[in-house]
Amino acid sequence: MNSDSFRRILGLAGGVTLLSLLAAGVAAFKLREDALAEAQRQTAALARMLGGQVRQSAQSLDLALNEAMATVVTDNEEQFQKLARSAETARSLSAIADRRAAIDAIEIEDQGGVTLVNSRGRARDWRGPLYPARDEPGRDSARETMIGVPHVSDTTGAMVVDFTRRLASSDGKFLGVARIGVTPEALVSTYSPLSEMPDRSFALLTRDGSILSRYPSTARAIGQRLPQTSAWYGVVAGGGGVYEAVSAFDQKRRIIAVNPVPFSDLVVTVSVTRAAALAHWRNQVLAIAVCTSLALAIAAILMRALQIQFRRVAEKEAALRAQSTALELSNQRFATALENMSQGLVVFDKAGRVVISNTRYARMYALAPEEIPPGTPARDILLMRSAKGFYAGQTPEAYVRNAMGRTFTDQRIDHLTDGRSILVNHAACPDGSLVVTHEDVTEREQSNSRIAHMAMHDELTQLGNRALFLSALQSLKREIGDAYKHVVLLLIDLDAFKPVNDTFGHIAGDIVLRECAQRLLAAAPYAHVVARLGGDEFALAWGVVDTGFVDPESAARRLIAEISRPYSVHGETITIGACIGVAIHEDRQISTDDMLRRADLALYAAKADGANRMRMFAPDMERDAVTRRELAVDLANAIANDELYLVYQPIVDAKSRQIRQMEALLRWRHPVRGLIPPQEFVGLAEETRQIDALGEWAARRACAAAASWPEEVGLTVNVSPLQLASHGFVEALTRAIDSAGLASHRVEIEITETALLQNRGNTLGSLGKLRECGISIALDDFGTGFSSLSYLKQFRFDRLKIDRSFVADVARDAGSAAIVSATVELARAFHVEITAEGVETPAQYDALRAAGVGSMQGYLFGWPDDIENGLPAIPAPGALMRPAPLATRIRAA
Ligand code: C2E
Ligand code: CA
Ligand code: CA
Repeated sequence: MNSDSFRRILGLAGGVTLLSLLAAGVAAFKLREDALAEAQRQTAALARMLGGQVRQSAQSLDLALNEAMATVVTDNEEQFQKLARSAETARSLSAIADRRAAIDAIEIEDQGGVTLVNSRGRARDWRGPLYPARDEPGRDSARETMIGVPHVSDTTGAMVVDFTRRLASSDGKFLGVARIGVTPEALVSTYSPLSEMPDRSFALLTRDGSILSRYPSTARAIGQRLPQTSAWYGVVAGGGGVYEAVSAFDQKRRIIAVNPVPFSDLVVTVSVTRAAALAHWRNQVLAIAVCTSLALAIAAILMRALQIQFRRVAEKEAALRAQSTALELSNQRFATALENMSQGLVVFDKAGRVVISNTRYARMYALAPEEIPPGTPARDILLMRSAKGFYAGQTPEAYVRNAMGRTFTDQRIDHLTDGRSILVNHAACPDGSLVVTHEDVTEREQSNSRIAHMAMHDELTQLGNRALFLSALQSLKREIGDAYKHVVLLLIDLDAFKPVNDTFGHIAGDIVLRECAQRLLAAAPYAHVVARLGGDEFALAWGVVDTGFVDPESAARRLIAEISRPYSVHGETITIGACIGVAIHEDRQISTDDMLRRADLALYAAKADGANRMRMFAPDMERDAVTRRELAVDLANAIANDELYLVYQPIVDAKSRQIRQMEALLRWRHPVRGLIPPQEFVGLAEETRQIDALGEWAARRACAAAASWPEEVGLTVNVSPLQLASHGFVEALTRAIDSAGLASHRVEIEITETALLQNRGNTLGSLGKLRECGISIALDDFGTGFSSLSYLKQFRFDRLKIDRSFVADVARDAGSAAIVSATVELARAFHVEITAEGVETPAQYDALRAAGVGSMQGYLFGWPDDIENGLPAIPAPGALMRPAPLATRIRAA
């Protein structure tokens, strides 16, 4: 529906309205005609009825006149006079008059108009007016009644009309007249039909237009004549009828019925005003108008309602059109989305038949889109898919059964037989249909499991990582007291692994680590978890059901032995070692942090013991740890409290035994614990990063002291690897040298190979800068490491200090002597000086001299001591070793 059709309906309604208006108009007109016709008919009927009455009355009067005339008829005039004046006649006339109500009086007059007798007994000989009947000899007045004009009766005083007839003798001689005075109103027996309709009037006239009577009575009209111009005369002449005219009496338009009374001079006229005639019609028209208006109003209201309805419908239609356009668009979008989405999609109806599916879905299962048209049952698709070999689980039948039996609101991953993982998602719609998406998540699954594995495993060795180890430890711990009596935790730290990397390269290092991991797994099949915690740190843990199952101590030794076996990498033989800390936990309340910390303390202790050692955790280790923490706090104040001081030990020329250098060595006299050896607090200072301040203090002190020594005596100071790595070190040292006014070529620093092992960013740079400043660099404790000689290639040292562990055996053990000799030879090739440490006996001295060592240090030449009394005197060869000076005695005990 649209506005056009509404306009059509509106036009139709307008037409119907016009037609009904027209019909109403025609009806009104017709009714008017009918009303007028009816008024004319009624008026005419009334006129006839009244005319009938008047005629009867007139006939009765004629009879009365005849009777009256009969009383006085004679042959001559004298007899007539006598007869007329007789009492007999008077009585007869009275009797005649009394019989008729209309009669006012009956008179007989002579030819001169003199009253001869009066029925009312009026005086005789009264001369009244002359009546026309007397003057018209041509007329047969004896038979024809003359009607006079109304006048006031001289006998009764009432308004009367005279009916007269001529009296003649037998020979025709005029004798006089018989006259009857009539009250005109009495000529009509009743006026009631007239009163029924207002504005209806009745008039009795003579044919010459004189008004004898009128109802309703109008006194002034009586006796008047109708105007000569009135149409009335014509109608009377025509024998009567109905006509319309404006009344001469009241100027109203009237319908006038004229009825001349036969055989008399009288004319009855009945009229009704047009207004009265149409009064009923008017009411009808009003009613019609009201009804029509009402109908029109209702029609208008209905039309308006219809219009509103139409407008609503039109609006709805427009909205629907917009909606359908939007729907079409969204359908297109949907179709595009469907074909371009990365998932396979299929929608099933309530009965499990395909409603729609996209190409990707078909292709995922190697089906052609035509094979699964709308209407295909889900089961058929599953069968087709299975037939192509795409199903999950044991058998295609089980798969189909399983898939059909699903609740359809789930999400599952099908691991298909071809290795793909398909994420199948079911979404039920309220109407019972089902939207199913299929997404190939094979890669995601794989990478997820890879990520999950990576999150928990060490990529290199494929052992568990720290996270996995901690969670395994957590699980094991929870079982203490239930499944397990206790839990054993082993922490393994490889010795000398760093040099493997440095010497043979990272690839070789990786191979060693992988091999090491395999050996751990093989050697400890009882372990619940074997993990690599980081770098060269491994850990094992297992729950012990019963003691004696596996002895942790021997397990640890076995592992050390396994790790220490040589590794063969690319034809090279590599040897590393390991330290192990063992902790046994019998309390499930302990935290994994504490479990690890205890094993770590045991490991720390094992490492302190040297290479390839194991230690079981003991409560005193925790106490030692506490002590270390306390010492660290004390150390922070040691410089300020003046508790630190330096001692110096000479390094002498092997041949001349002259002092070449003095080595500065740190001492700490603790106010409570007494003298603490540097091995104990230097490490602590490193751990707490106090080493920089400590080193700087020592350097300043030493340089200041050395400034007073003879020119040929140099100073050598020990420098921690951490110091070397820190940025301000070179500057701090050169400042100390400069402010002491010392020549930098007199200063040497001693570093251990750990500095190079760790090789923190700045180390080699610092060494280079020091060398540029003219400061010499010595490699301390040479030989205790693992790949010693490789450092000579890495950095050009000025001096090597052979560790005292070699020196100790050099006099008795040919092997040690050979190593020393080989080292000396090699050093010579690299133009590096050799100093031997820890020389205590003349035999050692001789052997070292023989091997070609250039300089020596040891108690044989001098203890580390204060130099308050100047540089020490070096004892002559063959002199006995001196006792240790007090200042250098480490512990009072
Ligand atoms: P080191 O650099 O190897 O110092 C030589 C150590 O050997 C000194 O022990 C010295 O007393 C000892 N010694 C000297 N001659 C003999 C001998 O004939 N026989 C034996 N058995 N021992 C001898 P000390 O003073 O206890 O120092 C131990 C370590 O502490 C030093 O080893 C050095 O690595 C470190 N250290 C000492 N002072 C400092 C310092 O100022 N800074 C740094 N970073 N480390 C220091
Ligand atoms: Ca040293
Ligand atoms: Ca040393």
